[in-house]
Amino acid sequence: MINTDIFTITHKDKKTSARIGILQTKKGKVETPFFMPVATRGSVKTLTSEELKQMKVPAVISNALILYLREGSIIANKFGGIGKFMNYNGINFTDSGGFQMYSPSIYLKSTKEGVFFRNPLNGEKILMTPEKNMELQLKISSEVAMCLDSMPMYHNTTKTQIEDAVNKTSLWAKRCKTHHDTLQKNLSKSKRQLLFGIIQGGIYSDLRETSTKEIINLDFDGYSIGGFGLGETIQEEFKIVKQVKSLLPENKPVYLMGIGNPVEILKGIELGVDIFDSRMPTQNARRGTLFTSEGKLRILREACKFDKGPIDKNCKCFVCKNYSRAFIRYQLIHDEFTGKKLATYHNIYYLTKLIETAKEKIKQGKFHELQKEVEEKYKG
Ligand SMILES: [Zn+2]
Repeated sequence: MINTDIFTITHKDKKTSARIGILQTKKGKVETPFFMPVATRGSVKTLTSEELKQMKVPAVISNALILYLREGSIIANKFGGIGKFMNYNGINFTDSGGFQMYSPSIYLKSTKEGVFFRNPLNGEKILMTPEKNMELQLKISSEVAMCLDSMPMYHNTTKTQIEDAVNKTSLWAKRCKTHHDTLQKNLSKSKRQLLFGIIQGGIYSDLRETSTKEIINLDFDGYSIGGFGLGETIQEEFKIVKQVKSLLPENKPVYLMGIGNPVEILKGIELGVDIFDSRMPTQNARRGTLFTSEGKLRILREACKFDKGPIDKNCKCFVCKNYSRAFIRYQLIHDEFTGKKLATYHNIYYLTKLIETAKEKIKQGKFHELQKEVEEKYKG
């Protein structure tokens, strides 16, 4: 009914399901596939919005719940939205914060009604309902919002518990969609915030199938595959992605949540995934694990102590043009902010460039070659 034309596929790879598309948002167009660094409170840790712009990072994702708890949603609203608040020219996504609600320090319980948690700041008991979450994300005014989903913790979680999470996710998705449509009913299509439905079901094919079908029935602007990055193997993960992808409509954008290493991003692109996010590339950078054209570099190792070379000799980022491995290592070891910043900048630059290259290769019909090359370098 709405937004059937928000996503246009412009190129398709010949050998794989990889594709390039244009996603139309209220802030403008963004080309897919892309990777979103995590900007929980509106900033990507250690980076400025100008640096994101410099690197041509097309989108970032913030956390609606965390912003809400610290009054960030109210402040961002006064600025006309999170994008203006952070002075960012790219596209802003927000996650519902479902995941954070399960952190043991704040989580109380989850019922059909919503999630009960305790505000760590003042001890206040809060019920986050699907409706309240939609109002919150509209207040933050991101271009793309996520449904409130029920995210099971896989460690020590039974299949029955995951099934319960799937049922709750579908129930909440329906309430999110209805309320989100109502709240925006007077807006023209071009001014509307987009809403993605989230598919759960863990590593179980039958639960994933149920979840996918129930979420598709609600006709969202895009579909997110959630519930990964919690200890499953890469084989389990991509078996599910392939299955879910085969059930999803071709003309809607697909977002694989929580995936951010080069090999898995390319694997996702191969299967037709359009959007990725993860805190891993920035978190790893601060801890000294860097992506390079030669594979993973652990810069804290002794071998880099006197290394005058750049992180990656094939990288054109300002960090690689100006700083040695030895300098970055020294700063990181001594917990200096500059070291964290340089490492983060390089990792985000690397991923952004990698996806740019993937798009060129899709256009040339050579995506598979790039994928093979990267997989080879990151082996082991
Ligand atoms: Zn670099």
